[in-house]
Amino acid sequence: MRCPFCSAEDTKVIDSRLANEGDAVRRRRECLTCAERFTTFEMAELVMPRLVKRDGSRVPFDEDKLRSGMLRALEKRPVPTEQVDAAINHIKHRLATTGDREVKSRVLGEWVMGELRQLDQVAYVRFASVYRSFQDVNAFREEIDRLEQGQMLSVPLEPVSAVPATVVSPDKQVSPGE
Ligand SMILES: [Zn+2]
Repeated sequence: MRCPFCSAEDTKVIDSRLANEGDAVRRRRECLTCAERFTTFEMAELVMPRLVKRDGSRVPFDEDKLRSGMLRALEKRPVPTEQVDAAINHIKHRLATTGDREVKSRVLGEWVMGELRQLDQVAYVRFASVYRSFQDVNAFREEIDRLEQGQMLSVPLEPVSAVPATVVSPDKQVSPGE
């Protein structure tokens, strides 16, 4: 660590203790050249992967954006702030521990849905409607009404595969002997 007074490169640590309730290490250092003392703080830095949007553009992870998106879905819903904070922390933890430098924003959306599903079903459906399109607006409204009446989802939220089953007609089959 370079001395901030004389720029000498050799400084020694004369004291080291935890700070910020254990989130940081505070070190008292002394310059071996000019004998001035100074303090450094060491903190773990969580490096978040960047998000790859549908159009291929890359944007930095934005916690405020994540929170406002979730709060929009949770508007007027009976969910305590601490639970929302905990959900956001789960998501941040997942992001920080992927080990990847980039994560598709669609994947982040799935994680948000997973958290919302556990917090509040209505918020979950509101958010899911952005990512997985419902057939039409009425179907979405009916789903919300049903949920608010305490009933179960009547339509699967998983996207239905559009790929038809492969059918091979017998006359087109080729046997190995021919
Ligand atoms: Zn110095």
